[in-house]
Amino acid sequence: MSFQERVLEPATGAYERVLASLNNGIAAGENPALIVQPRNHDELQDALHLALQQELQISVCSGSHSALCSLSGTLMLDLSAGLNKITCHGDLVTVQAGASMGAVLEMLTPLGRMLPVGTSLTPGFGLLTMGGIGHLSRSLGLTLDHIEAIRGITANGQSIEIKADHSDQELWMMLRGASVFLAVITEVTLKTDTRRKLHVIRHLCPVEQLPELINNAESLPEQGSCSMILGFSSDQRKAQILTYAVAAIENQRTLMEFQRKPGGCSEIVAGQEELPEFEFPSHGGVVPPLEPPNPNRYQRIKTRVYSISVPRGVGQSISEVLTHLISSAPNRQCRIDLQHVGGVVNAVDLDSSAYRGRQAEWSIVVTAIFGPNDPSAGKSAIQWAEDCFAALAQLANHYYIVQRHPESPTYHLELELAYGPILSALRRRQQSFDPHGMLAPMLS
Ligand SMILES: Cc1cc2nc3c(=O)[nH]c(=O)nc-3n(C[C@H](O)[C@H](O)[C@H](O)COP(=O)(O)OP(=O)(O)OC[C@H]3O[C@@H](n4cnc5c(N)ncnc54)[C@H](O)[C@@H]3O)c2cc1C
Repeated sequence: MSFQERVLEPATGAYERVLASLNNGIAAGENPALIVQPRNHDELQDALHLALQQELQISVCSGSHSALCSLSGTLMLDLSAGLNKITCHGDLVTVQAGASMGAVLEMLTPLGRMLPVGTSLTPGFGLLTMGGIGHLSRSLGLTLDHIEAIRGITANGQSIEIKADHSDQELWMMLRGASVFLAVITEVTLKTDTRRKLHVIRHLCPVEQLPELINNAESLPEQGSCSMILGFSSDQRKAQILTYAVAAIENQRTLMEFQRKPGGCSEIVAGQEELPEFEFPSHGGVVPPLEPPNPNRYQRIKTRVYSISVPRGVGQSISEVLTHLISSAPNRQCRIDLQHVGGVVNAVDLDSSAYRGRQAEWSIVVTAIFGPNDPSAGKSAIQWAEDCFAALAQLANHYYIVQRHPESPTYHLELELAYGPILSALRRRQQSFDPHGMLAPMLS
């Protein structure tokens, strides 16, 4: 198949199929000027050249979980179609940019290896290159902490191949945690860990217990984590908390407190990929299956998501704010996750990567959900998410910038909280790598 056949034009079946398959409902409803599905480095170079020739900005799509992976009027790079090879060699794995985290775990499982990934298996390189917070972050680190080598192409067509011992240490730092602003990453090599059996204990608790639950979680040693969801289960009218405590079975004693608590659901699973969904279960601990997305790409459920990090020791004030925010949610699908970080993530040198949330204990993910056909409901859901961001930003020590809102008047605050002192160096580097401002979204 020639490069020309990898370029999909609007109003063709192939173009429509790509957009309908995207995970993010906002991205699915966008109308890129062209979609290109490169299979290798040379085809990616050709795609970047085509964008430059046609004066198009680029939107990059890997796991398609963000609203920014397909933007109207851009040249959308669909990496999932032709760049999804995963190669294992010893304790390393080389992953091409279109592969999902679930696909990586699937390759590693028979080899007795694993990688700490997020709570969901479907995200791709937006997660892997920018952070990667999950149930095992406290014991094994972020996904990006496992990166050993990166390959990619800058927006101005320059190839990058970089490892930890590279002479350009600033670039090595920036590409782990800020790569989406600088280059299209084609391939990453990561160090894997031994796959281990995990113990998971879930409880449903009243929201009034939030300060105590946060304190209990903060007293866990780094071998255990307890993330939570504040939201509405299908069979309850009032907001509740799901606690989700995880430790490797050799560290099971870590979860003693949770085991003693009555009414929970305790399971041992063979590996991370078998953990139950991080969702509210109904009776018996079973999570009801998700409804399939609407096949009409303009009729999809949409989300507005913010992820704000806070330090340990602010449980009381965070609980008051969160309890108020969830009680004012505009619909029962809205939720606030508290992803438990800290642990070994804290121990890594802050200046070693562009992920600057090392001192955070919690990554708080606010998700407002709204349907396609009621603009006023959409407006109030977005307003709620923005209000949550404004309230939590006052207590924040970091913003986890996998969720970006370049169109928002508070985008500068997201950037400041995410990058702080390295923001101007990042802007300088972006200007040199992307002088024509092709990579959307921009840093300023
Ligand atoms: C259901 C769900 C669960 C989630 N769970 C977690 C979790 O547990 N932990 C966590 O840390 N995060 C989680 N996230 C957030 C997730 O990490 C971000 O949404 C991330 O952006 C998803 O990456 P993606 O590749 O799937 O998405 P995409 O939309 O394809 O990409 C996201 C961004 O990264 C850029 N990008 C993607 N690939 C490349 C590349 N190869 N080179 C350069 N830029 C690239 C894109 O331009 C886009 O701006 C979750 C999100 C969702 C929707």
